[in-house]
Amino acid sequence: MGIKDLVKPEHFLINHRIESCSYNLDRHALSKTLIENMIHHKGVGLSANQIGIWERAFAIMAEEDTIVCFNPKIIKSYTEKVSFNEGCLTYPDLFLDIIRPNSIIAKWEDEDGKIHKEKLTGFTSRVFQHEYDHMEGIDFTQRHVL
Ligand SMILES: [Zn+2]
Repeated sequence: MGIKDLVKPEHFLINHRIESCSYNLDRHALSKTLIENMIHHKGVGLSANQIGIWERAFAIMAEEDTIVCFNPKIIKSYTEKVSFNEGCLTYPDLFLDIIRPNSIIAKWEDEDGKIHKEKLTGFTSRVFQHEYDHMEGIDFTQRHVL
């Protein structure tokens, strides 16, 4: 699929909930595309809809590795909240302080359909939550409280 342009914030795909992954989706190809594009566009996370792909999947930079999550879910959000200055590839040059839970229990499928369930904390949790919002058609400008 190669390097793709980032879609604009007003694009339909940015503002609508993304349904579960297509049955016949080539997950390995999409995984490669998401990682390539995340690195090319210099992000720490990238959702498929941000590059015009209508699939419920995103790539994130975790502690030491890159993870691609298909059909991600947040099972639990812990009560402790933290503020962090976030950016988003869809909004170049915009950085906003966003308050989110520090830890979550996340669930997702990998390229092979294997289910993962993990407690994420700190940076990885932050990026997962930001990208998860993209799956729900929400972006960080809607999370920002003055
Ligand atoms: Zn974003």
